[in-house]
Amino acid sequence: MKVIVVGAGIIGASIAYNLGRGGAEVTVITDNSANATEASFGWINASFYADDAHHRLRVEGMAAYVRLTDAQPNLPIQMNGALWWEEQGSGLSKMRAALLALGYPVENIGRLAALEREPELRDLPDELLLFPSEGVAEAGALAAALLAASGARLVSGVRVNGIVEKAGAVCGVETQMGFMAADKVIVAAGNGAPDMLASVDVALPMLVRPGAMVTTRPIMGKIRSVLVTPDGEARQLPDGRIMASAAANHQGDSADEVYEKADEIGERVLGWLNPMIAGTTLEWDSVSLAYRPVPQDGLPAIGHVGPLGLHVAVMHSGVTLAAITGEAVAAEVLGQGGFDALLAPYRPSRFQ
Ligand SMILES: Cc1cc2nc3c(=O)[nH]c(=O)nc-3n(C[C@H](O)[C@H](O)[C@H](O)COP(=O)(O)OP(=O)(O)OC[C@H]3O[C@@H](n4cnc5c(N)ncnc54)[C@H](O)[C@@H]3O)c2cc1C
Repeated sequence: MKVIVVGAGIIGASIAYNLGRGGAEVTVITDNSANATEASFGWINASFYADDAHHRLRVEGMAAYVRLTDAQPNLPIQMNGALWWEEQGSGLSKMRAALLALGYPVENIGRLAALEREPELRDLPDELLLFPSEGVAEAGALAAALLAASGARLVSGVRVNGIVEKAGAVCGVETQMGFMAADKVIVAAGNGAPDMLASVDVALPMLVRPGAMVTTRPIMGKIRSVLVTPDGEARQLPDGRIMASAAANHQGDSADEVYEKADEIGERVLGWLNPMIAGTTLEWDSVSLAYRPVPQDGLPAIGHVGPLGLHVAVMHSGVTLAAITGEAVAAEVLGQGGFDALLAPYRPSRFQ
């Protein structure tokens, strides 16, 4: 079976990897345009969620990463846990109770226990939550590693202008370098998906959700976990740079515009990062802005829609959900079932 996957971000790469393992002949096409994956904070978690079903999907997403790292042990993924102190008092108790009720691993820890995990931190509050099963992926590197392991062909720098259908079934895609034939087409094109899908009258309305990230100059060995503070999230990259979000609770950030200037964002983030980390004065070295691919109701769009053989996989929290999405979309494209109950709330047919 010939499959075209449009998009080489973490979602397209994970789908290509799973399809390759399933024996499909896969070609990935990317125009190297907007790439949320490269800009991502990379936090893998289920402590952020919209509702119980969404929490379950994210927990399944984390379980799929365990299967993925068992099969490919050297991927750039670290499950070192997350420390949460976005709120204190009743806010913290509510968060803990809600997650415990869902059966999620969460521990209440005091400042001293937190310092045992993170000895370089300062000004920690009395009470924190620890989510021991969470972690991070270096999303750009992970996408590249999955693509390399997929055995897929790559057509790079080429724009897909539309899907081509014949007698109610897809037969390929129209690219800026002409027609390419396929038995199945998977649109994993992030914010580029709606235009492409419009060519076969499939609607995928999206929100506009910019997100800014700051990185510092490298400094080794300061942070192990993901830190979820009242000001924003921070973690340390493998090369020593610290990455921090411009917005608090960045995954749920609902602003549709960023009004601050880049250098103001850099200085503001250093304003809370520096007092938190012992023995250093950090400087920022980059501020990056990217757009999260968020379908209009905030939830993922995963599955078949429109002509036979067309599948869609577009979502925010795509790092958390990449491994499970790759498994699910590949299974459905290859005619295997098993994901209907999990994916029922996320079918793209809800927008038609
Ligand atoms: C600032 C920021 C922070 C984030 N933090 C987190 C986080 O902590 N945890 C988490 O789980 N998620 C996070 N996300 C979300 C996550 O990064 C995305 O959901 C995920 O990267 C989406 O991957 P994707 O492969 O669907 O899209 P993308 O990475 O955007 O890739 C889209 C691909 O499609 C290609 N494409 C698009 N249009 C066309 C076309 N017409 N023709 C050919 N190719 C095309 C592009 O070139 C690219 O290869 C964050 C996102 C942002 C922006």
